Amino acid sequence: MESKKSNLHVLLVSFPAQGHINPLLRLAKCLASKGFLVTFSTTETIGHLMKEATNAKSCKIGHGELRFEFFSEGWEINEPQRANLGAWIHQLETVGRESFTALVNRQSQMGRPSVSCIINNPFVPWATDVAAELGIPCAVLWVQSCAVYSIYYHFQHQLATFPNPDQRDMTINLPSLPSQEFDDIPDFLTLNPYDSLRKVILSQFENLDKSFCVLVDSFEELERETIEVMSRISAPIIPIGPLFKSTNDASSVRGDIWKATDDCLQWLDSQSPNSVIYISFGSVVSLSKEQLEELSAGLLKSGTPFLWVLKTPPINVGSKPELPDGFKEEAEGKGMVVEWCPQEQVLAHSAVSCFLTHCGWNSSMECLTSGVPVIAFPQWGDQNTNAKLLIDAYGVGVRMKKTQKDGTAVVTRDEVERCIFEVTKGARAEEIKKNARKWKEAAEVAVAGSSHRNIELFVADILRMHG
Ligand code: UDP
Repeated sequence: MESKKSNLHVLLVSFPAQGHINPLLRLAKCLASKGFLVTFSTTETIGHLMKEATNAKSCKIGHGELRFEFFSEGWEINEPQRANLGAWIHQLETVGRESFTALVNRQSQMGRPSVSCIINNPFVPWATDVAAELGIPCAVLWVQSCAVYSIYYHFQHQLATFPNPDQRDMTINLPSLPSQEFDDIPDFLTLNPYDSLRKVILSQFENLDKSFCVLVDSFEELERETIEVMSRISAPIIPIGPLFKSTNDASSVRGDIWKATDDCLQWLDSQSPNSVIYISFGSVVSLSKEQLEELSAGLLKSGTPFLWVLKTPPINVGSKPELPDGFKEEAEGKGMVVEWCPQEQVLAHSAVSCFLTHCGWNSSMECLTSGVPVIAFPQWGDQNTNAKLLIDAYGVGVRMKKTQKDGTAVVTRDEVERCIFEVTKGARAEEIKKNARKWKEAAEVAVAGSSHRNIELFVADILRMHG
């Protein structure tokens, strides 16, 4: 059986963004540990920023092997047109698709087993078509919650009426989900900030029938009803998460686009248990100057030690966020600002008391299943829905509220201070901590139980398809 697996070659292809790379790479490691030859692929421009991966080129994991190979979308990282999202997505769908097809085809010419199975993530729906054209079985790894899958699916198939920007009082009710207000719905469907991304997101539902299953980085105990409902009306949904707990992630090659500062772990070692607030807004969000001012003032007012991730954008869009004058001096000895950190290890550290997060699905999953209470500060896309789930459905934190200040909506310093207090010491703090512990334990049960079984069934499916 093991020798059969090493002759089977699974190719994973990821949209070139950190929040997509991480879950795909975790699944790649997991499948390699089962004995397969696994190739992880994304665009060359982002692939080259994944320094650990490019340096490693390939590594043994268990009985299997994980290797990295990238394809070109024909533009360099500093190509000025990249700033035009629509033009870049088109480039990815045309030139990128062609060079990805060539990558698949050249595997056997390079002396490796030809590709037996492709796993793509939703933002590269064209990979499913490439797989169908080449007669290769394809599965999708959905990298957001099943709730968000349901919302997009209902929208795309016109199974529910969604509000437009003039209908902010309207709520939507979908099977098994809490009632969604305007601000809880992914804003691609309401305000539509990036039309090209909305098209990519929705187009994935057009060729779903070409995939043999939809894997999801969630777990049965968390989204059981939604998984059941969506499996009945769309494709079979197979929960296999939380993937970062299913793989021994810390011990093998990481896919970071930025260099993670390990020093922050030593700094955390020097802090009292349950005392530090961890702050990160993921890989894409950047906050306005006004918002950074309010956030840093609120943080100092709260007197809470902090670890804050402030990254420089990886490509030529935007610049490094500037902290307000005097902040570094005032914050001396109270906290640490880093460009990037090993987030899973930070969240597992006993010094961390809560996570002020933008609620990307990976961050949501990582904190929920690490038992860390949340201060939710969603900005766009599915983050709105994730915040709703974390706060209202799972009961693990509080959501910061924006108010109008000088004509713009910001979270004020008082609100920042209030939320830190509420989640760490307020009347509901104990209940929030209890809920957080409950989800951590449920995730551990899933990793050893339902998600583990589902991964084994998926592996069996691949083996069966190849006789
Ligand atoms: N992350 C990390 N170090 C950091 C900040 C983030 O390793 O300093 C990882 C985090 O663990 C998560 C991913 O980057 O896996 C961000 O994905 P998410 O879905 O939360 O947000 P996105 O970047 O897609 O907005």
